[in-house]
Amino acid sequence: MKLAAKIPKFIRHYINGTHVESIGGETIPVTNPISQQQYATLSVGSTHDVDLAVAAATSAFHESGWATFSARQRSTVLHAIADAIERRGDLLAEFETFDTGLPIKQSRGQASRAAENFRFFAEICGSIHEDAFRTNAQIGYVIRKPKGVAGLITPWNVPFMLATWKLAPCLASGCSVILKPAELTPLSASIFPEIMEEAGLPKGVFNMVHGIGEDAGAALVAHPGVPLISFTGETTTGKIIMRSAADNLKSLSMELGGKSPCVIFADADIESALNSSLFGVFSLNGERCTAGSRILVEQSIYDEFVDKFSERAKNIRIGDPSNPETELGALVSTEHYERVLNYVEAGKNEGARLTAGGSRPKHLSSGNYLSATVFADVKRDMRIFQEEIFGPVVCITPFKDEKEAISLANDTRYGLAAYIWTTNLQRGHRVAHQVIAGMLWLNSHNVRDLRTPFGGVKASGLGREGGQHSLDFFTETSIVHIALGDTHVAKFGAK
Ligand code: NAD
Repeated sequence: MKLAAKIPKFIRHYINGTHVESIGGETIPVTNPISQQQYATLSVGSTHDVDLAVAAATSAFHESGWATFSARQRSTVLHAIADAIERRGDLLAEFETFDTGLPIKQSRGQASRAAENFRFFAEICGSIHEDAFRTNAQIGYVIRKPKGVAGLITPWNVPFMLATWKLAPCLASGCSVILKPAELTPLSASIFPEIMEEAGLPKGVFNMVHGIGEDAGAALVAHPGVPLISFTGETTTGKIIMRSAADNLKSLSMELGGKSPCVIFADADIESALNSSLFGVFSLNGERCTAGSRILVEQSIYDEFVDKFSERAKNIRIGDPSNPETELGALVSTEHYERVLNYVEAGKNEGARLTAGGSRPKHLSSGNYLSATVFADVKRDMRIFQEEIFGPVVCITPFKDEKEAISLANDTRYGLAAYIWTTNLQRGHRVAHQVIAGMLWLNSHNVRDLRTPFGGVKASGLGREGGQHSLDFFTETSIVHIALGDTHVAKFGAK
């Protein structure tokens, strides 16, 4: 069957096991990043739709048994979800590429990562444990419970995989959920309902409300029946969500923007640093939160590095994202494309040296395509050095010594990831300890062990996800104290 025949023409909410339109009937068109034509109509929710979803999730939390299932029972369902994702791996990748413009090879990788997220939490479900504390006088033991109805709000850059990153621990913990996918890219999420049903997740545990962030998203954040919100998206949106969530004192996990440095010293394995830094900024179309979008290079190898990097960037295969040979696809929307082009203009106007790309490739007359773009001699006060571009645009800046490298690396408001390349391991560790970021890779590519803490500092986020950190977020602990002997208390009011 051709892809077009598999794409739903109408994408609805999924509440209490049923596909439903918005109560008020509101919809928006969804477009494709290449044709820029509408391919589907999306139901967009408001407070009323969120109310229904919260009611369904709350009732499932109390009555479906999911919250009190044994770890083994939950683990079986999570494995079944991973199986169901794997069975649909090709379709998921095709949907993701069609909707986002990500190269198909990379979408396939993200689809298998999505299954792996469920597999991983299926396996560690059983390790959710409860501590005990003992003194001579009493023993205290911790009971850990799912927190309730979770609101998960996700971005458009790698939509399906990022949703599983939150859904898997949320379900592993026994919570019920309302997912609010990004309105720009709802296609892959439309497969979740059949996956959850096939895996045997009880009705009402998984709900999905589509819609505009300021409406459906804001309603979810403001709803008093949703005690926790896990959000991935822009820093400015994160701030709005925090303000709104304060009224109900919600638990928040915030995975926000980045402008991560990649620091390359003269003694590094240059070939590996080159390969990693190119992939690090141009994969996923540069629409990647952990992109190494500021490359800092030691002065003595700077010119040679800029030449080699720019040459390779010029050779990056850009084009139809559904072609397996494509390395760089189309940006997600016309609005985002124009935003990225504005940054290219800003770079030129501020005096940075354009050494590759900077415009639409000649062979692609339509679609949101921008050649891999490299600016050299970028100064720390330029906008392209300071602001997250979220596209295939990289800054290269020279440094004279370790001190200046650290100072440049830390000179933005973000602190998500950092990459360091040097064969001097003492220096490597020293620099890694001084660069302010939540995640650092030393002579190592951005590969994540799912057990490790994921998240940023400064304007890049609050809280950590990944492994036990995610389980801690989605569960609440209480401590029960028991006296081991007679209880001695002051006798207030006694004669
Ligand atoms: P965005 O903030 O515009 O939107 C993210 C989600 O929030 C969408 O579902 C949107 O509808 C919703 N939203 C928007 N306004 C809202 C509001 N007022 N209340 C509630 N929800 C609202 O972000 P985006 O443009 O979709 O994604 C790109 C951003 O995401 C980049 O800044 C990128 O760095 C960041 N990101 C971060 C990570 C990470 O793990 N740190 C991962 C991926 C993307």
